[in-house]
Amino acid sequence: MFSIGLTGGIGSGKSQVAQWLDQWGAAVIDTDQIAHALTAAGGQAIAALRGAFGAAAIAADGSLDRAWMRAQAFADPAVRQRLEGIVHPLITQSAQQQAAQASGTYLVYVVPLLVETGHWQARVDRVCVVDCDPDTQVRRVSARSGLTPEAIGRIMSTQASRETRLAAADDVIVNDGTTSLDTLRQQSWRLHQFWCGHALRSRTLTLPPK
Ligand code: ADP
Repeated sequence: MFSIGLTGGIGSGKSQVAQWLDQWGAAVIDTDQIAHALTAAGGQAIAALRGAFGAAAIAADGSLDRAWMRAQAFADPAVRQRLEGIVHPLITQSAQQQAAQASGTYLVYVVPLLVETGHWQARVDRVCVVDCDPDTQVRRVSARSGLTPEAIGRIMSTQASRETRLAAADDVIVNDGTTSLDTLRQQSWRLHQFWCGHALRSRTLTLPPK
């Protein structure tokens, strides 16, 4: 199936765009949701995470202790690499399983760290970046989550820069501080139509039965 990798920094507006694409008939696969499921109690990644980081990594309810893990990963890049080495292959595997069963005009993989992790670019037909200036990202995320600007800045410092992300883009949706939700929706619709055209052309048409 023709596929899009939808990415953007935290608070850029990816989830909002993905929600519309889903409503319009694309099959959306959200890798953040997959990561949450893998690290929830009983999730597929839990045993490996306990093995790698010890019992301290697992909360009393059996899920990954996210606050503990985040603190360790921020303090030590080697820990972050090990964590990603466990979780990322499982995310890819689960995303592929979902894709095999998906029905829609085309596939949209929502991948926050698409540019950072590298391997997604080879798996999708086009990379779409939702582009936003850092000040607006901080404003949106603090309104949504109540995190402090410092905490948001720390998350953003682990993500690719705006320039690096744009350099990887085939398609760009502008969603900066001056973009209204309506303008965002219109841009998303134009790209949706463009991708539907691609999806149709990339389909192997077989002669219908007599
Ligand atoms: P991401 O998934 O990239 O982290 P979201 O789609 O969740 O970002 O957007 C972050 C927040 O900002 C959400 O509450 C969303 O509704 C809001 N938002 C995004 N774009 C706009 C916009 N152009 N105007 C107003 N609010 C927006």
